[in-house]
Amino acid sequence: MNMLYKSTRDSLKEVTAAQAIAQGISDEGGLFVPAFLPTLTDDDFERLASYDYNGRAVDILCRFLSDFTESEIENCVSAAYGANKFDTENPANMHTLHDNVNILELWHGPTCAFKDMALQLLPHLLTKSAQKVSPGKTTAILVATSGDTGKAALEGFKDVDGTKVVVFYPGEGVSMLQKMQMITQEGNNVKVFAISGNFDDAQTGVKKIFTDEKIKDTLAADNIQLSSANSINWGRLVPQIVYYVSAYCDLLVSGKISKGDKFNVVVPTGNFGNILAAYYAMRMGVPIAKLICASNKNKVLTDFINSGTYDKRRDFYVTASPSMDILISSNLERLLYELEDNDDGIIKSYMSALQKDGIYTVSDKCLKRMQSLFYAGYMDDDGTFGVIKECFEKYNYLCDTHTAVAIGVYEKYAAETGDDTATVIASTASPYKFPTSVLKALGKAADGDEFDRLYELNNVSGVKIPQSLAELKSKPVRFNETCTSDNMAQKVVDYLLNSK
Ligand SMILES: *Cc1c(COP(=O)(O)O)cnc(C)c1O
Repeated sequence: MNMLYKSTRDSLKEVTAAQAIAQGISDEGGLFVPAFLPTLTDDDFERLASYDYNGRAVDILCRFLSDFTESEIENCVSAAYGANKFDTENPANMHTLHDNVNILELWHGPTCAFKDMALQLLPHLLTKSAQKVSPGKTTAILVATSGDTGKAALEGFKDVDGTKVVVFYPGEGVSMLQKMQMITQEGNNVKVFAISGNFDDAQTGVKKIFTDEKIKDTLAADNIQLSSANSINWGRLVPQIVYYVSAYCDLLVSGKISKGDKFNVVVPTGNFGNILAAYYAMRMGVPIAKLICASNKNKVLTDFINSGTYDKRRDFYVTASPSMDILISSNLERLLYELEDNDDGIIKSYMSALQKDGIYTVSDKCLKRMQSLFYAGYMDDDGTFGVIKECFEKYNYLCDTHTAVAIGVYEKYAAETGDDTATVIASTASPYKFPTSVLKALGKAADGDEFDRLYELNNVSGVKIPQSLAELKSKPVRFNETCTSDNMAQKVVDYLLNSK
């Protein structure tokens, strides 16, 4: 069936998947959403369960990207999840924590964080989309990163024909491992700058370049168009739906649940992309009982789901789970569009209130629906460290700080409700991505630099260090340029026009 996309702020707008992905965001500021959700029957699940991850991905993606041919999608999927890209046979590896509580490890890709699941695939979807929408152009991706996204984008786009990628990271704002991951990046179409300033300076600078008509014209004359790889792009969301479908298939195959049995899904949440993908999977027919939304001390989503009022006027905390330190969860807009029965006018009013006053309250109907689907809770850093220690001592399982927030909130939920339904907890980063916090949680000294701590954590836990992190120390540095928010634009233009 032909699938079109609508904008959350203009339901009359209809674009193809290729347009939605190439464009990223709709002209009036809305997000692209599928016009309907494809449904999967028991027969479909039985067939999907007999496929490997790539086969499942092709099947699901074909339903959403109906303007792509099956062979185009097969090529994209095998480029993303093929040969040696992930260090497990199944890119979305399932680990049993205890009884019927399972950890869906989404971090076995090249950068050790779950963003690889989407960012390994997005570049291929994006180049195919760009070829369909505006053939013959080079797509240049600009990324401002607070750490994980920049590296995942660099790895995803490296040496992908027809693309270039430029990443800006705050010189003082990322961990040493994160910095090393970026400045040693390989590939002939990549460029990395440190910016003197914080993440907001980098982000503001990138946004300014996107809206600068003069720069766009200069680049267009050279057949280059700018695009973004951030998590509101539909091309980043759709790969995430796949792993929830796949998780259900794996639960069936392993006999942990029977056909049609429900299971809970727990997601450590920041921008609301990952948990939204689980919601879409549920709407497609994956039998999910409760969607459990886990936040850290920046608990704007916990408060919202429990009250119906979204209020970003609050202190911002730097926590031990930095990838969830977010006060504006952009992808929430897509959920509200569904729960408000596709009423674009209401969505527009919520989003303009958020921008103007920093607060909005949803309708009673929306709140009721949301609370019937979601449970929300949060965990502070002390609680998070406690979970890491307990998990290791009780179940011999080492988890990172983000995953620990999810496990902790799940435990709270289970204790409160007595619910013992089978559960899948999304694990979003390797514990080795945050060795300092994990050592601290285990009550061990975090001496030396972050490389020393990788080895110390390995000593303490016996868990293998991911190859891509272990080899970082001996990799040559390729990028050591710093720029300021004032000369970012010039640096981008120079690089894009002079690198062929
Ligand atoms: C990005 C990220 C998250 C948050 O995911 P959202 O889709 O933004 O909700 C959680 N954990 C880690 C490790 C991340 O990198």
